[in-house]
Amino acid sequence: MIRKLSDMSMQQLEQWLERLRTQQTDEHITSADLSQLQELVHELQVHQLELEMQNRELLETRAQLEAARDRYADLYDYAPVGYLDFDRHGCVLQANITALTLLGGDRAALEGQPFSVFLDKADAPEFFNHLHRVLQYGDRTHCQLRLGGRAGGSRVVRLNSIAVADEREPANPLCRSAMLDITEQIEIEAETALHQQQAALIHAERLSQLGELASGIAHEVNQPLSALLTYAQTGLRLLQRGAMAPRELETLLDKMATQAQQGGEILRRIRRFARKTEMESRPVQLNDVVSEAVALIKPRAEQAGVAPALILSPALPEVMADPVQIQQVVVNLIINGIEAIAGAGMTQGRIEIRTGLSVSRDALECCITDTGPGLETAQEALLFQPFYTTKPEGMGLGLSLSHSILERHGGELYYNGCNDGHTRFCFSLPLADPEQERP
Ligand code: ADP
Repeated sequence: MIRKLSDMSMQQLEQWLERLRTQQTDEHITSADLSQLQELVHELQVHQLELEMQNRELLETRAQLEAARDRYADLYDYAPVGYLDFDRHGCVLQANITALTLLGGDRAALEGQPFSVFLDKADAPEFFNHLHRVLQYGDRTHCQLRLGGRAGGSRVVRLNSIAVADEREPANPLCRSAMLDITEQIEIEAETALHQQQAALIHAERLSQLGELASGIAHEVNQPLSALLTYAQTGLRLLQRGAMAPRELETLLDKMATQAQQGGEILRRIRRFARKTEMESRPVQLNDVVSEAVALIKPRAEQAGVAPALILSPALPEVMADPVQIQQVVVNLIINGIEAIAGAGMTQGRIEIRTGLSVSRDALECCITDTGPGLETAQEALLFQPFYTTKPEGMGLGLSLSHSILERHGGELYYNGCNDGHTRFCFSLPLADPEQERP
């Protein structure tokens, strides 16, 4: 062989072979050599095909790997949680884009920096504590931190961390953390806690109102009980004398049942008022709610020489309200009226409770007017502030809680002035069906 076959490309080889076969060359070659050479070329062609296939497969695999790498990089970078790696000094080794966005910087400004410079100063010790627990004891643990410093703002984050081996320094594991922005969650929790506290306070105030009503209620319960006793004694006497006709007995028992029902209704009213329930607004008749509140307070008012006068506008549309909470407001306003009258040394007074449609006709109004001494102008601005009271035993919570009850109902409680010795507080409640406005 004259030429070095390995130096020739497949095409050159094929051309050279063709020339040999057609004797266009002076190179001397036997026919055995030629067939051997042809076989060799064929084998080489097969190998080339195989190599080309493998090459294609390799290229495809590389493209797939690159796509997978890009996908995972995207997943890492744009995950809904921030990912951060910290070294044992608390410096950021790497961070994804979510973490960078939360911390308000770019990679260059973050990587290699102590994480504590992105925290509220007061929370830096908590972070180091957390890091120590993770790296020293291998704990999978979490902590809550306020961002600040270079991160600016006042967001709250939660770090969930584990220790992972660092291939560059196997003796020193690093801390891998998922960082979650929990600012909204914290705000919602705080709001829920506030609502719960307010509901507990409203309930406590209701119980304290019941305490104020206790002697009146006892007096009221006593009436059907005394009547029952009288009827029972009368019946007994007549029976002993053998002078009772079945008709008379029936009438007597009827009267006793009515008295027992009255007593039971008083207790049910108190139980409904005292019950601790979540606020539950539903369509209700304001007149019914107000009447029940007045029934609760009536004995107490009468004891103080005050006559409550109910003036209910007929055929009013329903309002959206939690009846017990609205009763609480009415009771509070009436008690305030009674106390104002009694506090001024008056032995008699009048409290008017009036319901009606508001001027704007998209709400109902209830106004409670008393004939007490009224308010000083300077007091008006303080009325709805918690703990404002002029009473020696007062808590100063009644009006402020009533105000927030109405606010939560989408209504309003306001002081409506003091004219001709009449002090008036009014509240409004939205209609259950706003379309049902009266002409
Ligand atoms: P408290 O009854 O415990 O004082 P409130 O919040 O119900 O708490 O009332 C706050 C203050 O508003 C009362 O102490 C009183 O000075 C004044 N006030 C409320 N209602 C009347 C009223 N009808 N007449 C005069 N003053 C009133």
